[in-house]
Amino acid sequence: MTLAEKPSGKKLQVSGVVQGVGFRPFVYRLAREHHLSGWVCNTSRWVEIVVEGAAASLERFVQELTSQSPALARIDSLVVEEAEPQGREGFTILESRRLPGAEALIPADASTCADCFREIMDPGDRRYYYPFTNCTNCGPRFTIIQSVPYDRPRTTMAAFAMCPRCREEYENPEDRRFHAEPTACPECGPRVWLEEAGRVLEGDALKAAGKLLREGKVVAIKGLGGFHLACDARQAPAVASLRDRKGRVGKPFAVMVRDLAEAQRLGQLDGLTTQLLLSPERPIVLARKREDCDLAPQVAPHNKYLGLMLPYTPLHLLLFSHAPAALVMTSGNLSEEPLVFTNDGARIRLASLADAFLLHNRDIQVPCDDSVVRPVAGRQVIPLRRARGFVPQRVSLPVDSEPILAVGAEQKNTFCLAWKGLALLSQHLGDLDTVETFDYFQLAIAHFKSLSRKDPQVIAYDLHPQYFSTRYALAQEGVKLIGVQHHHAHIAACLAENGRRGPCLGLALDGTGYGPDGTIWGGELLVADLADYKRVGRLVQVRLPGGEAAVRDPRRMAAAYLHAAFGGDFIRVAREMHFGFSSLEERILSHQLATGLNSPLTSSTGRLFDAVAAALNVCRTRTYEGQPALELEMAASEDEKGYYSVGVDSADGLVVLDGVGLFRETVVDYRAGAAPGRAAARFHNSLARLLTAACVILRDRTGLDEVALAGGVFQNGLLLTRLYDLLIEQGFAVLTQTRTPPNDGSISLGQAAVAAARLEREGG
Ligand code: ZN
Ligand code: ZN
Ligand code: FE
Repeated sequence: MTLAEKPSGKKLQVSGVVQGVGFRPFVYRLAREHHLSGWVCNTSRWVEIVVEGAAASLERFVQELTSQSPALARIDSLVVEEAEPQGREGFTILESRRLPGAEALIPADASTCADCFREIMDPGDRRYYYPFTNCTNCGPRFTIIQSVPYDRPRTTMAAFAMCPRCREEYENPEDRRFHAEPTACPECGPRVWLEEAGRVLEGDALKAAGKLLREGKVVAIKGLGGFHLACDARQAPAVASLRDRKGRVGKPFAVMVRDLAEAQRLGQLDGLTTQLLLSPERPIVLARKREDCDLAPQVAPHNKYLGLMLPYTPLHLLLFSHAPAALVMTSGNLSEEPLVFTNDGARIRLASLADAFLLHNRDIQVPCDDSVVRPVAGRQVIPLRRARGFVPQRVSLPVDSEPILAVGAEQKNTFCLAWKGLALLSQHLGDLDTVETFDYFQLAIAHFKSLSRKDPQVIAYDLHPQYFSTRYALAQEGVKLIGVQHHHAHIAACLAENGRRGPCLGLALDGTGYGPDGTIWGGELLVADLADYKRVGRLVQVRLPGGEAAVRDPRRMAAAYLHAAFGGDFIRVAREMHFGFSSLEERILSHQLATGLNSPLTSSTGRLFDAVAAALNVCRTRTYEGQPALELEMAASEDEKGYYSVGVDSADGLVVLDGVGLFRETVVDYRAGAAPGRAAARFHNSLARLLTAACVILRDRTGLDEVALAGGVFQNGLLLTRLYDLLIEQGFAVLTQTRTPPNDGSISLGQAAVAAARLEREGG
């Protein structure tokens, strides 16, 4: 600044994810670079900056504050005010200040950054080969935080006193580790060891673990958000034995690969897939298996795709110096139980599953599974499971409200805390039908309430009276309860994620949801906004013979559809198609379908997929939720463009999609000799056409041309892309979910949006 120039000043308030991500040292360096003086300070609500200097430098400073902010930072709002310059000298970082009503955001865990990676691989560096290396740009966050504000004493790193050299880095604003709360080194930080048969092994634990994995053993590995069970993905007996021990029959295992080159050896990676693999969240990414993929077939049976992920902690990176290049990495639990995350928990609950334990003494405060995403056709991303790396990033809601707790559904449960137009969605917690998961659900709610310092007096829940989440909500006293219909919540989640309030046409397609008319919904066409919905169409209803039994056995659904399509003759057709029912089963099914005994009506799309998968003999035994639909999609030949002509009817003022006709055409085609892959593809193509035709009719009736697609069926990439393209062709605006899962993992988000909209309407 020349003497002639008059200094000016500014005061800035920055909010978003700006704490614990190296934001203050970034501000410090930026201010010094532009020769500005003043200070920066973390408050419990935002980062406050006061700067003064030449006007032009100030402008550039403000500009670069957003354009050059650190990798993990996310600025939600920046308020800039003029401030009288005080003739300050130098730039400083002031001590944190606590303001009432803390709103500061907690960052998500982030994968090891390039700088830390270089250090652990450099024999000359003091952090060479150190598995707990991290800095302000990477490392554990959400999973180690006990309470707020986010400072080391309130994390599980409080147990480790910093050595003088770490302390120096931590206090030096010029250092990459300035206020990196989990910072550590081999002198002062956590350590890793290997236990086999209750005995701690001497020597290099990572090397020994690598050796066991090469020998085909199963090793339980404590990672960032919990335990994995690992084995060499190329050794069939090892993978088979892991399946056996875990009691997991067919559900695909995820694979962690040494590096991108190894991922390329196994999967066909397009640009989008590669980008997702390398993203700092490091999710599991579904990638198409290469023809010459040499992994054990048991890794992902009957599946064209592999779940691949890159190592995301120094421990994993270093393990690959010794371990085979592709490791099965499946959640450390028995099927359906919550993730194990403590050393003692692992020693007890994983004892029969693992041959050895790679443990460490940095406690995990909050367990968090790996996230899973599915890129489709190189252009769309379907999040399948939202957890590590993404939680607790907040999702904006288009409606402001007082604090609301939304408790979610039963399967793939998440809950959600929402206030003032922001939603804090929990990590994927799993299915709430075991005591262990339900306990974990309640603990997680308490933790989120304390982190956000909110105690909502409004609770939103699903209308299904048997859901554990519903029972939890109804048991809370002195709160306002808002029940939200399941499929309305699906559409509201999609609207909310897209920042829309509706009204729109909503296609809510899933397996099961409670319908207020006493039937089971799951193929619903709604006109919906955030506050309300009206059912304007559905899939034709069929019986669910034996209720839950039909959900578990796709052959029963095929029988129900055969009954609807071919009437009393259906047993003969079922025999000709070799469904393999015993004569007792045949008698029971005939009776149930004729009388409706214990066989509620359903309009579920998931069940239609089950029936077709069983009829085409693609999948007749279900070992995990969603398997028949997944295998039907995998079987479909993508080049097939044919379709069946099936119509849209109407009944009781509703548009009714002829799912029975669609089933009949598919079966007739198959029995006339069409290959299952061809019939499966034609089924997908026809369903997409049927849905599009229904939307066109509904647009004529309502004038609405925005369509929201939500529900677990939209995890199906083939149906999604076919339908999406047809709708666009017909001039619709199409909304899909790309940051939250279309399955029940975002029901809580939808519930929160609906509750907020209803409160707003009441003027509350
Ligand atoms: Zn780093
Ligand atoms: Zn140290
Ligand atoms: Fe659902």
